[in-house]
Amino acid sequence: MLGQAWQAVVIGRENNGFSLLTFDFLKTGDAVGDGLYIGLDLGGTNIKAGVLDCAGKVISKVSVPTGRGPDAVIANMVAAGGEAVRAAGLPLDAITAVGIDSPGPLSTEKGVVIRSANLLGWENVPLRDRISAALGKPAILENDARAAAYGEFFAGAGKSLNVRNMMMITLGTGVGGGIIVDGHLIRGHTDMAGELGHAIVVPDGALCGCGQKGCLEMYTAASRVGQRAVQALHDPEVTSSLRDALNQLGELTARDVEDHARRGDELALEVWNQTCRYLAVACISAVHWLDPQMIIFGGGMAAAGEFLLQPIRRHFDANYWKMDPPAVEIRAAELGNDAGIIGAAALAHAMMQGH
Ligand SMILES: [Zn+2]
Repeated sequence: MLGQAWQAVVIGRENNGFSLLTFDFLKTGDAVGDGLYIGLDLGGTNIKAGVLDCAGKVISKVSVPTGRGPDAVIANMVAAGGEAVRAAGLPLDAITAVGIDSPGPLSTEKGVVIRSANLLGWENVPLRDRISAALGKPAILENDARAAAYGEFFAGAGKSLNVRNMMMITLGTGVGGGIIVDGHLIRGHTDMAGELGHAIVVPDGALCGCGQKGCLEMYTAASRVGQRAVQALHDPEVTSSLRDALNQLGELTARDVEDHARRGDELALEVWNQTCRYLAVACISAVHWLDPQMIIFGGGMAAAGEFLLQPIRRHFDANYWKMDPPAVEIRAAELGNDAGIIGAAALAHAMMQGH
């Protein structure tokens, strides 16, 4: 892999000078020693822990239920990290540092989770320092959606050396994201960069839990896609196979809409198509703000693959300005549920390299 590392040096010098040269080494992974890292991904239901090498390769991984309350959850995270190290057949001494990701809002600088809708009873929890103390390793804390974006940048859909500007949109219960500019994960002035779900796509639209109206999340989060179909079914004139599904299930999700759209149901297709249109419009705004090379879709809904991406690209092309053809690549995430542990570990690696 020496050849690839050498190529990275040339790219760094040509584009941005010495400061980014080290970063290019970082992305190739294999050129910066042999450090091993623990990645800890804190979710509302499960904690995932993994041991990763400095190229983002998963050596071992474990998953445990999250538990309730900060003390129990932190104890579970520490235990899961230890278990991942044992599963890798390593002593804890072999680990260089720990990367942690958590739902926010949080302070990456202080390593504190300020509060969390998904984690009851969490308020100003010094998660980074408590885990660092328990494992005896340096640690870094990052927002979960941003860590996943960094994982995709480092070792997933954006891993190619020439990808330096990229964003990821995660479609799940909520809509989140992460932005990488010139090879750096963007955190912003108040750690809010990447809250793409709250980009407004419909002025004076549906009232979001955040207090704004017309947020992207209100139209494209998995539950909202289902609710838009339910709303359309309020009209008794509308005929759709989704009506039977609704009567049977009591509610509809994006998955139901996708399934029925794939079978050609007209209403389901309309709702799905409109969802893709909202996403395409958000992507166009993102291109004009940031000019990314690549926009990656991840999260549960992105499992639809080309069935989701093709209409997004179609709406993107139809609505994009006519001055130049679109240059952005819209594609699916590659790391699935491992994106969080990979991104967290890669950020710990970057921290140890002084980035
Ligand atoms: Zn909102």
